[in-house]
Amino acid sequence: MNYDGSRDLYDRALSVMPGGVNSSVRATQPYPFFVQKGDGGHVIDADGNRYIDFVMGYGPLLLGHDLPESVQSAVQRRASEGPMYGAPTEVEVELAEFLARHVPSVEMVRFVNSGTEATVSAVRLARGYTGRDKIVIMEGSYHGAQESTLVEGKRDETAPSSPGIPESFAEHTVTVPFNDEDAAREVFEEHGEDIAAVLTEPILGNHGIVHPVEGYHETLRELTAEHGALLIFDEVITGFRVGGLQCAQGTFGVEPDITTFGKIVGGGFPVGAIGGKSEIIEQFTPAGDVFQSGTFSGHPVTMAAGLETLRYAAENDVYEHVNRLGEELRSGIADILEDQAPNYTVVGTDSMFKVIFTREGAFGDGHCEGGCTQNPSCPRYEHCPKNGADVDRAETERWERLFWPAMKEQGVFLTPNQFESQFVSAAHTEADIEEALEAYKEAL
Ligand SMILES: *Cc1c(COP(=O)(O)O)cnc(C)c1O
Repeated sequence: MNYDGSRDLYDRALSVMPGGVNSSVRATQPYPFFVQKGDGGHVIDADGNRYIDFVMGYGPLLLGHDLPESVQSAVQRRASEGPMYGAPTEVEVELAEFLARHVPSVEMVRFVNSGTEATVSAVRLARGYTGRDKIVIMEGSYHGAQESTLVEGKRDETAPSSPGIPESFAEHTVTVPFNDEDAAREVFEEHGEDIAAVLTEPILGNHGIVHPVEGYHETLRELTAEHGALLIFDEVITGFRVGGLQCAQGTFGVEPDITTFGKIVGGGFPVGAIGGKSEIIEQFTPAGDVFQSGTFSGHPVTMAAGLETLRYAAENDVYEHVNRLGEELRSGIADILEDQAPNYTVVGTDSMFKVIFTREGAFGDGHCEGGCTQNPSCPRYEHCPKNGADVDRAETERWERLFWPAMKEQGVFLTPNQFESQFVSAAHTEADIEEALEAYKEAL
Protein backbone atom coordinates (compact mmCIF):
# COMPACT_ATOMS: atom_id res chain seq x y z
CA MET A 1 0.00 0.00 0.00
CA ASN A 2 1.05 3.55 -0.68
CA TYR A 3 0.67 6.02 2.20
CA ASP A 4 2.30 9.14 0.70
CA GLY A 5 -0.82 11.29 1.02
CA SER A 6 -1.24 10.42 4.71
CA ARG A 7 2.44 11.02 5.37
CA ASP A 8 2.27 14.49 3.83
CA LEU A 9 -0.83 15.34 5.85
CA TYR A 10 0.85 14.12 9.02
CA ASP A 11 3.87 16.26 8.21
CA ARG A 12 1.59 19.32 8.12
CA ALA A 13 -0.38 18.17 11.18
CA LEU A 14 2.74 17.85 13.33
CA SER A 15 3.41 21.58 12.85
CA VAL A 16 0.04 22.70 14.14
CA MET A 17 -1.38 19.98 16.42
CA PRO A 18 0.41 18.28 19.33
CA GLY A 19 1.47 14.83 18.12
CA GLY A 20 -0.38 15.62 14.90
CA VAL A 21 -3.73 14.46 16.30
CA ASN A 22 -6.67 15.59 18.40
CA SER A 23 -6.99 12.42 20.47
CA SER A 24 -3.86 10.63 21.62
CA VAL A 25 -4.79 7.08 20.64
CA ARG A 26 -4.96 8.11 16.97
CA ALA A 27 -1.20 8.69 16.70
CA THR A 28 -0.36 5.21 15.35
CA GLN A 29 3.17 4.24 14.30
CA PRO A 30 4.91 5.43 12.22
CA TYR A 31 2.08 7.81 11.30
CA PRO A 32 -1.69 7.39 11.11
CA PHE A 33 -3.57 7.07 7.86
CA PHE A 34 -5.82 10.07 7.28
CA VAL A 35 -9.39 9.17 6.40
CA GLN A 36 -10.90 10.61 3.27
CA LYS A 37 -14.36 9.08 3.80
CA GLY A 38 -16.36 6.19 5.16
CA ASP A 39 -18.24 3.70 3.01
CA GLY A 40 -20.57 1.28 4.79
CA GLY A 41 -18.33 -1.00 6.85
CA HIS A 42 -15.16 0.44 5.30
CA VAL A 43 -13.01 3.56 5.44
CA ILE A 44 -10.96 4.93 2.56
CA ASP A 45 -7.76 6.80 3.34
CA ALA A 46 -6.11 9.81 1.73
CA ASP A 47 -4.25 7.54 -0.71
CA GLY A 48 -7.37 5.63 -1.72
CA ASN A 49 -6.56 2.53 0.35
CA ARG A 50 -9.67 0.74 1.56
CA TYR A 51 -9.98 -0.93 4.97
CA ILE A 52 -12.63 -3.00 6.68
CA ASP A 53 -13.31 -0.73 9.64
CA PHE A 54 -13.71 -2.37 13.05
CA VAL A 55 -12.77 0.83 14.90
CA MET A 56 -16.07 2.49 13.99
CA GLY A 57 -15.09 5.79 15.57
CA TYR A 58 -14.19 3.87 18.79
CA GLY A 59 -17.79 2.79 19.23
CA PRO A 60 -20.37 5.39 18.20
CA LEU A 61 -21.10 4.04 14.72
CA LEU A 62 -23.54 1.19 15.37
CA LEU A 63 -24.91 1.57 11.85
CA GLY A 64 -21.59 2.00 10.05
CA HIS A 65 -20.65 4.92 7.83
CA ASP A 66 -23.72 5.12 5.59
CA LEU A 67 -26.47 6.54 7.73
CA PRO A 68 -29.97 5.26 6.85
CA GLU A 69 -32.23 7.70 5.02
CA SER A 70 -34.21 8.53 8.19
CA VAL A 71 -31.06 9.52 10.10
CA GLN A 72 -29.58 11.47 7.17
CA SER A 73 -32.72 13.51 6.59
CA ALA A 74 -33.28 14.26 10.29
CA VAL A 75 -29.69 15.51 10.59
CA GLN A 76 -29.91 17.61 7.45
CA ARG A 77 -33.24 19.12 8.38
CA ARG A 78 -31.95 20.06 11.85
CA ALA A 79 -28.76 21.57 10.45
CA SER A 80 -30.71 23.60 7.89
CA GLU A 81 -33.11 24.97 10.52
CA GLY A 82 -30.25 26.58 12.41
CA PRO A 83 -27.97 24.24 14.29
CA MET A 84 -28.79 25.20 17.92
CA TYR A 85 -30.68 27.79 19.96
CA GLY A 86 -29.93 27.96 23.69
CA ALA A 87 -33.56 27.05 24.31
CA PRO A 88 -35.06 23.57 24.62
CA THR A 89 -36.39 21.62 21.63
CA GLU A 90 -38.84 18.73 21.25
CA VAL A 91 -36.20 16.32 20.00
CA GLU A 92 -34.38 16.40 23.38
CA VAL A 93 -37.57 15.33 25.12
CA GLU A 94 -38.10 12.54 22.60
CA LEU A 95 -34.60 11.12 23.06
CA ALA A 96 -34.89 11.35 26.87
CA GLU A 97 -38.26 9.55 26.67
CA PHE A 98 -36.69 6.86 24.50
CA LEU A 99 -33.93 6.25 27.07
CA ALA A 100 -36.38 6.20 29.99
CA ARG A 101 -38.58 3.72 28.12
CA HIS A 102 -35.81 1.26 27.25
CA VAL A 103 -33.09 1.39 29.91
CA PRO A 104 -34.24 -0.33 33.13
CA SER A 105 -32.68 2.05 35.69
CA VAL A 106 -33.34 5.30 33.84
CA GLU A 107 -36.24 7.61 34.66
CA MET A 108 -34.55 10.91 33.85
CA VAL A 109 -31.64 12.05 31.73
CA ARG A 110 -29.30 15.04 31.45
CA PHE A 111 -27.60 15.29 28.06
CA VAL A 112 -24.04 16.59 27.71
CA ASN A 113 -21.43 16.62 24.93
CA SER A 114 -19.02 13.78 25.60
CA GLY A 115 -18.56 10.64 27.65
CA THR A 116 -15.95 12.50 29.67
CA GLU A 117 -18.44 15.21 30.56
CA ALA A 118 -20.94 12.50 31.52
CA THR A 119 -18.58 10.74 33.94
CA VAL A 120 -17.36 14.07 35.40
CA SER A 121 -20.96 15.11 36.03
CA ALA A 122 -21.95 11.68 37.37
CA VAL A 123 -19.13 11.74 39.92
CA ARG A 124 -20.07 15.28 40.98
CA LEU A 125 -23.72 14.21 41.26
CA ALA A 126 -22.85 11.17 43.40
CA ARG A 127 -20.69 13.32 45.67
CA GLY A 128 -23.38 15.98 45.92
CA TYR A 129 -26.14 13.44 46.57
CA THR A 130 -24.27 11.49 49.25
CA GLY A 131 -22.26 14.34 50.76
CA ARG A 132 -19.15 12.11 50.52
CA ASP A 133 -15.91 12.51 48.56
CA LYS A 134 -14.40 9.10 47.80
CA ILE A 135 -15.05 7.15 44.64
CA VAL A 136 -14.02 3.57 43.92
CA ILE A 137 -12.94 2.71 40.38
CA MET A 138 -11.40 -0.36 38.73
CA GLU A 139 -7.62 -0.58 38.27
CA GLY A 140 -6.74 0.24 34.65
CA SER A 141 -10.24 1.47 33.83
CA TYR A 142 -10.92 4.42 31.54
CA HIS A 143 -13.73 6.89 32.10
CA GLY A 144 -12.56 9.68 29.81
CA ALA A 145 -10.11 12.50 30.37
CA GLN A 146 -11.32 13.41 33.86
CA GLU A 147 -9.28 14.41 36.92
CA SER A 148 -10.90 12.00 39.41
CA THR A 149 -10.32 8.84 37.40
CA LEU A 150 -6.92 9.53 35.81
CA VAL A 151 -5.17 7.76 38.65
CA GLU A 152 -2.73 4.89 39.04
CA GLY A 153 -1.89 2.73 42.02
CA LYS A 154 -3.75 0.29 44.21
CA ARG A 155 -6.50 0.73 46.80
CA ASP A 156 -6.01 4.05 48.62
CA GLU A 157 -2.37 4.36 47.53
CA THR A 158 -3.25 6.24 44.36
CA ALA A 159 -1.55 9.08 42.50
CA PRO A 160 -2.51 11.08 39.40
CA SER A 161 -1.57 9.24 36.19
CA SER A 162 -0.91 12.50 34.33
CA PRO A 163 1.03 15.66 35.08
CA GLY A 164 -1.27 18.60 35.65
CA ILE A 165 -3.52 16.90 38.17
CA PRO A 166 -2.99 17.89 41.81
CA GLU A 167 -2.08 15.00 44.12
CA SER A 168 -5.07 15.93 46.24
CA PHE A 169 -7.49 14.81 43.52
CA ALA A 170 -6.22 11.23 43.69
CA GLU A 171 -6.65 11.18 47.47
CA HIS A 172 -10.36 10.79 46.91
CA THR A 173 -10.06 7.91 44.45
CA VAL A 174 -9.66 4.30 45.55
CA THR A 175 -8.95 1.51 43.05
CA VAL A 176 -9.78 -2.19 43.15
CA PRO A 177 -9.13 -4.94 40.59
CA PHE A 178 -12.20 -5.69 38.44
CA ASN A 179 -13.85 -9.01 39.35
CA ASP A 180 -12.26 -9.12 42.83
CA GLU A 181 -15.15 -9.23 45.30
CA ASP A 182 -12.89 -9.45 48.34
CA ALA A 183 -11.01 -6.28 47.39
CA ALA A 184 -14.31 -4.43 47.03
CA ARG A 185 -15.47 -5.70 50.43
CA GLU A 186 -12.19 -4.62 52.02
CA VAL A 187 -12.33 -1.04 50.74
CA PHE A 188 -15.91 -0.77 51.98
CA GLU A 189 -14.89 -2.13 55.37
CA GLU A 190 -12.17 0.47 55.59
CA HIS A 191 -13.76 3.50 53.88
CA GLY A 192 -17.49 2.62 53.71
CA GLU A 193 -18.66 5.81 55.40
CA ASP A 194 -16.72 8.03 52.98
CA ILE A 195 -17.51 6.34 49.68
CA ALA A 196 -19.86 8.29 47.42
CA ALA A 197 -19.90 5.77 44.60
CA VAL A 198 -18.41 2.80 42.82
CA LEU A 199 -17.86 3.69 39.17
CA THR A 200 -17.33 0.82 36.72
CA GLU A 201 -18.02 -0.27 33.19
CA PRO A 202 -20.31 -3.33 33.26
CA ILE A 203 -17.81 -4.95 30.87
CA LEU A 204 -14.33 -3.39 30.71
CA GLY A 205 -14.27 -2.16 27.13
CA ASN A 206 -11.20 0.05 27.23
CA HIS A 207 -8.85 -2.46 28.78
CA GLY A 208 -8.89 -5.62 26.70
CA ILE A 209 -12.62 -6.35 27.03
CA VAL A 210 -13.02 -8.13 30.35
CA HIS A 211 -16.33 -9.81 31.15
CA PRO A 212 -17.59 -9.81 34.76
CA VAL A 213 -17.49 -13.08 36.66
CA GLU A 214 -20.86 -14.42 37.78
CA GLY A 215 -22.15 -12.43 40.75
CA TYR A 216 -19.61 -9.59 40.62
CA HIS A 217 -22.05 -6.79 39.82
CA GLU A 218 -24.54 -8.18 42.35
CA THR A 219 -21.82 -7.90 44.99
CA LEU A 220 -21.09 -4.28 44.03
CA ARG A 221 -24.83 -3.57 44.10
CA GLU A 222 -25.17 -5.05 47.61
CA LEU A 223 -22.07 -3.37 49.01
CA THR A 224 -23.01 0.08 47.74
CA ALA A 225 -26.61 -0.23 48.95
CA GLU A 226 -25.49 -1.46 52.36
CA HIS A 227 -23.11 1.48 52.84
CA GLY A 228 -25.28 4.24 51.41
CA ALA A 229 -23.04 4.65 48.36
CA LEU A 230 -24.19 4.80 44.73
CA LEU A 231 -23.42 2.35 41.95
CA ILE A 232 -22.54 4.08 38.68
CA PHE A 233 -22.38 2.04 35.48
CA ASP A 234 -20.33 3.71 32.78
CA GLU A 235 -22.20 2.44 29.72
CA VAL A 236 -20.51 4.84 27.31
CA ILE A 237 -19.37 1.80 25.27
CA THR A 238 -21.86 -0.89 26.27
CA GLY A 239 -24.94 1.38 26.14
CA PHE A 240 -27.15 0.47 23.16
CA ARG A 241 -24.57 -2.08 22.08
CA VAL A 242 -24.48 -4.90 24.66
CA GLY A 243 -27.98 -6.19 25.33
CA GLY A 244 -29.43 -3.94 22.62
CA LEU A 245 -31.76 -1.17 23.76
CA GLN A 246 -31.85 -2.30 27.40
CA CYS A 247 -28.03 -1.90 27.54
CA ALA A 248 -25.65 -4.09 29.56
CA GLN A 249 -27.55 -3.47 32.80
CA GLY A 250 -30.58 -5.18 31.29
CA THR A 251 -28.49 -8.18 30.23
CA PHE A 252 -26.90 -8.55 33.66
CA GLY A 253 -30.10 -7.78 35.54
CA VAL A 254 -28.40 -5.27 37.82
CA GLU A 255 -29.78 -1.75 38.22
CA PRO A 256 -27.21 0.95 38.88
CA ASP A 257 -28.21 4.23 40.55
CA ILE A 258 -26.61 6.31 37.83
CA THR A 259 -25.69 5.38 34.26
CA THR A 260 -23.42 7.34 31.96
CA PHE A 261 -23.92 7.14 28.22
CA GLY A 262 -22.05 8.46 25.19
CA LYS A 263 -20.91 7.14 21.82
CA ILE A 264 -23.92 5.40 20.16
CA VAL A 265 -26.53 7.60 21.85
CA GLY A 266 -25.47 10.56 19.68
CA GLY A 267 -25.62 8.66 16.39
CA GLY A 268 -22.06 9.67 15.47
CA PHE A 269 -22.14 13.24 16.82
CA PRO A 270 -20.55 14.50 20.07
CA VAL A 271 -22.64 13.34 23.03
CA GLY A 272 -22.84 12.17 26.61
CA ALA A 273 -25.70 11.60 29.04
CA ILE A 274 -26.28 10.91 32.71
CA GLY A 275 -29.38 8.88 33.55
CA GLY A 276 -30.97 7.36 36.61
CA LYS A 277 -33.79 7.57 39.12
CA SER A 278 -35.52 10.95 39.28
CA GLU A 279 -34.66 11.35 42.93
CA ILE A 280 -30.96 11.36 42.08
CA ILE A 281 -30.90 13.03 38.64
CA GLU A 282 -33.10 15.87 39.95
CA GLN A 283 -30.21 16.93 42.17
CA PHE A 284 -28.74 18.58 39.05
CA THR A 285 -29.40 22.30 38.68
CA PRO A 286 -31.85 23.89 38.15
CA ALA A 287 -34.04 21.22 39.84
CA GLY A 288 -31.40 20.67 42.55
CA ASP A 289 -28.14 22.17 43.73
CA VAL A 290 -25.43 20.15 41.96
CA PHE A 291 -24.18 22.48 39.25
CA GLN A 292 -24.35 21.18 35.69
CA SER A 293 -24.62 23.21 32.50
CA GLY A 294 -23.45 23.40 28.88
CA THR A 295 -23.80 25.61 25.81
CA PHE A 296 -24.07 22.67 23.43
CA SER A 297 -25.87 20.22 25.74
CA GLY A 298 -28.85 18.56 24.07
CA HIS A 299 -27.67 19.84 20.69
CA PRO A 300 -30.57 19.39 18.24
CA VAL A 301 -28.45 17.86 15.46
CA THR A 302 -26.95 15.31 17.88
CA MET A 303 -30.32 14.58 19.49
CA ALA A 304 -31.91 13.96 16.09
CA ALA A 305 -29.05 11.70 14.99
CA GLY A 306 -29.21 9.73 18.25
CA LEU A 307 -32.98 9.39 18.24
CA GLU A 308 -33.22 8.28 14.61
CA THR A 309 -30.30 5.87 15.03
CA LEU A 310 -31.93 4.20 18.02
CA ARG A 311 -35.35 4.16 16.34
CA TYR A 312 -33.77 2.52 13.32
CA ALA A 313 -32.12 -0.07 15.56
CA ALA A 314 -35.44 -0.72 17.32
CA GLU A 315 -37.35 -1.20 14.08
CA ASN A 316 -34.81 -3.23 12.13
CA ASP A 317 -32.79 -6.34 12.93
CA VAL A 318 -29.65 -4.32 13.69
CA TYR A 319 -28.71 -6.04 16.95
CA GLU A 320 -29.47 -9.49 15.54
CA HIS A 321 -27.18 -8.73 12.59
CA VAL A 322 -24.23 -7.22 14.46
CA ASN A 323 -24.38 -9.83 17.23
CA ARG A 324 -24.48 -12.69 14.73
CA LEU A 325 -21.47 -11.34 12.83
CA GLY A 326 -19.71 -10.69 16.15
CA GLU A 327 -20.28 -14.31 17.13
CA GLU A 328 -19.02 -15.53 13.73
CA LEU A 329 -15.89 -13.44 14.07
CA ARG A 330 -15.16 -14.55 17.63
CA SER A 331 -15.69 -18.25 16.90
CA GLY A 332 -13.81 -17.99 13.60
CA ILE A 333 -10.87 -16.37 15.34
CA ALA A 334 -11.00 -18.99 18.11
CA ASP A 335 -10.66 -21.74 15.48
CA ILE A 336 -7.62 -19.98 14.01
CA LEU A 337 -6.06 -19.54 17.46
CA GLU A 338 -6.49 -23.22 18.20
CA ASP A 339 -4.10 -23.97 15.32
CA GLN A 340 -1.81 -20.98 15.37
CA ALA A 341 -1.67 -19.35 18.82
CA PRO A 342 -3.38 -21.60 21.37
CA ASN A 343 -2.41 -19.45 24.35
CA TYR A 344 -4.28 -16.37 23.12
CA THR A 345 -7.81 -15.54 24.30
CA VAL A 346 -10.81 -14.36 22.28
CA VAL A 347 -12.88 -11.87 24.24
CA GLY A 348 -16.02 -9.87 23.67
CA THR A 349 -19.75 -10.31 23.45
CA ASP A 350 -22.55 -9.05 21.22
CA SER A 351 -20.80 -6.81 18.65
CA MET A 352 -17.58 -6.28 20.66
CA PHE A 353 -14.49 -8.38 19.98
CA LYS A 354 -10.74 -8.57 20.55
CA VAL A 355 -7.93 -11.11 20.80
CA ILE A 356 -5.86 -10.80 23.96
CA PHE A 357 -2.34 -12.10 23.49
CA THR A 358 -2.33 -14.00 26.77
CA ARG A 359 0.78 -16.01 27.53
CA GLU A 360 -0.72 -19.11 29.13
CA GLY A 361 -3.58 -21.54 28.73
CA ALA A 362 -4.10 -23.98 25.87
CA PHE A 363 -7.12 -24.54 23.68
CA GLY A 364 -6.64 -28.30 23.78
CA ASP A 365 -9.59 -29.04 26.03
CA GLY A 366 -11.97 -26.50 24.51
CA HIS A 367 -12.89 -22.89 25.28
CA CYS A 368 -15.84 -20.56 25.77
CA GLU A 369 -17.89 -20.59 22.58
CA GLY A 370 -17.71 -17.23 20.81
CA GLY A 371 -15.60 -15.31 23.30
CA CYS A 372 -14.64 -15.48 26.96
CA THR A 373 -17.60 -14.95 29.31
CA GLN A 374 -15.79 -16.07 32.49
CA ASN A 375 -17.50 -19.44 32.51
CA PRO A 376 -16.06 -21.36 35.51
CA SER A 377 -16.49 -24.72 33.74
CA CYS A 378 -14.37 -23.55 30.77
CA PRO A 379 -10.98 -25.31 30.78
CA ARG A 380 -9.26 -21.95 30.22
CA TYR A 381 -11.03 -20.26 33.13
CA GLU A 382 -7.85 -19.97 35.21
CA HIS A 383 -6.02 -18.26 32.34
CA CYS A 384 -8.50 -15.82 30.83
CA PRO A 385 -7.97 -12.22 31.98
CA LYS A 386 -10.13 -11.24 34.96
CA ASN A 387 -8.95 -7.64 35.41
CA GLY A 388 -6.82 -4.88 33.97
CA ALA A 389 -3.54 -6.20 35.37
CA ASP A 390 -4.11 -9.58 33.69
CA VAL A 391 -4.47 -7.79 30.35
CA ASP A 392 -1.32 -5.74 31.04
CA ARG A 393 0.61 -9.01 31.38
CA ALA A 394 -0.31 -10.06 27.82
CA GLU A 395 2.05 -9.61 24.85
CA THR A 396 0.94 -6.02 24.40
CA GLU A 397 4.05 -4.98 22.43
CA ARG A 398 3.64 -7.83 19.96
CA TRP A 399 0.00 -6.88 19.51
CA GLU A 400 0.79 -3.27 18.78
CA ARG A 401 4.04 -3.47 16.82
CA LEU A 402 3.64 -6.63 14.76
CA PHE A 403 0.03 -7.73 14.72
CA TRP A 404 -1.77 -4.40 14.23
CA PRO A 405 0.44 -3.26 11.30
CA ALA A 406 0.09 -6.70 9.67
CA MET A 407 -3.70 -6.41 9.81
CA LYS A 408 -3.57 -2.88 8.42
CA GLU A 409 -1.41 -4.05 5.51
CA GLN A 410 -4.15 -6.54 4.69
CA GLY A 411 -6.79 -3.86 4.74
CA VAL A 412 -8.28 -4.44 8.18
CA PHE A 413 -8.46 -1.44 10.51
CA LEU A 414 -8.38 -2.48 14.18
CA THR A 415 -8.06 -0.32 17.30
CA PRO A 416 -4.28 0.21 17.46
CA ASN A 417 -3.43 -1.36 20.80
CA GLN A 418 -4.17 -4.40 22.92
CA PHE A 419 -6.64 -2.54 25.09
CA GLU A 420 -9.50 -0.94 23.17
CA SER A 421 -12.51 -2.86 22.02
CA GLN A 422 -13.34 -3.37 18.34
CA PHE A 423 -16.84 -3.21 16.92
CA VAL A 424 -19.00 -4.81 14.27
CA SER A 425 -21.52 -2.45 12.64
CA ALA A 426 -24.80 -2.99 10.82
CA ALA A 427 -22.97 -2.15 7.59
CA HIS A 428 -20.58 -5.11 7.83
CA THR A 429 -21.36 -8.17 5.73
CA GLU A 430 -20.61 -11.90 5.81
CA ALA A 431 -17.99 -11.23 3.14
CA ASP A 432 -16.25 -8.67 5.39
CA ILE A 433 -16.12 -11.25 8.19
CA GLU A 434 -14.63 -13.90 5.88
CA GLU A 435 -12.05 -11.46 4.58
CA ALA A 436 -11.17 -10.36 8.12
CA LEU A 437 -10.76 -13.98 9.24
CA GLU A 438 -8.36 -14.62 6.33
CA ALA A 439 -6.34 -11.61 7.50
CA TYR A 440 -6.24 -12.94 11.09
CA LYS A 441 -5.01 -16.27 9.70
CA GLU A 442 -2.13 -14.49 7.96
CA ALA A 443 -1.26 -12.05 10.74
CA LEU A 444 -1.40 -14.28 13.82
C1 LIG B 1 -15.08 6.66 25.39
C2 LIG B 1 -15.35 6.48 26.83
C3 LIG B 1 -15.46 7.56 27.71
C4 LIG B 1 -15.14 8.97 27.28
O1 LIG B 1 -16.01 9.43 26.30
P1 LIG B 1 -15.52 10.67 25.38
O2 LIG B 1 -16.73 10.95 24.54
O3 LIG B 1 -14.34 10.19 24.62
O4 LIG B 1 -15.20 11.78 26.29
C5 LIG B 1 -15.84 7.34 29.01
N1 LIG B 1 -16.09 6.09 29.44
C6 LIG B 1 -15.98 5.02 28.64
C7 LIG B 1 -16.29 3.66 29.17
C8 LIG B 1 -15.59 5.17 27.31
O5 LIG B 1 -15.43 4.12 26.54
